[in-house]
Amino acid sequence: MNNNIGKNKCVFLDRDGVLIEDVGYLKNPEDIIIMPNSIEALKILKAAGFLLIIVTNQAGIAKGFFSMEDLASVHEKLSKIYENNGIIIDDLYFCPHHEKGTVEPYNIKCSCRKPETGMAVKGVKKFNIDTDKSFMVGDKDSDIMLAKNSGLKSFYIKNSMYEHDENVVPDFYVKDLMEAAEIITKAA
Ligand SMILES: [Mg+2]
Ligand SMILES: [Zn+2]
Repeated sequence: MNNNIGKNKCVFLDRDGVLIEDVGYLKNPEDIIIMPNSIEALKILKAAGFLLIIVTNQAGIAKGFFSMEDLASVHEKLSKIYENNGIIIDDLYFCPHHEKGTVEPYNIKCSCRKPETGMAVKGVKKFNIDTDKSFMVGDKDSDIMLAKNSGLKSFYIKNSMYEHDENVVPDFYVKDLMEAAEIITKAA
């Protein structure tokens, strides 16, 4: 008996450094810079039948660098950009927490801040996702660790801004989301 019949496949996407440029604690929707080729890559993944779910750590909330409203307006603008390009993001989860934060009630140790798996678990449950056929694309070791801990195959986009522990080995190293999309759809 195959328990995977009817299950969905998904590409979980980190936001900063994968979909949009990582400008550090992005607060203003006007500062959104779409990563080159990422829109086209999302179209390819959608056409191949993948759900698209964004999973993003936004500790700037806990640290008081921006508000929930700021973040909501950034995400509104981002979905508008995608909508204008015919792309629907199936869901977006963010973690507003940080244990060293100053803003209550977000200054806690949570189970959703990557590398914790809370956000992926939520998506897997809600959309009945087959993790064996699903992927995570990120640019930090915490993204790769979330993937490993969630049973997802991982793509690591090299980002010179962040340290990379050689012991955290992704399934694939890629230069951008487009390269990941090509590998994913070739294998599917
Ligand atoms: Mg990132
Ligand atoms: Zn959290």
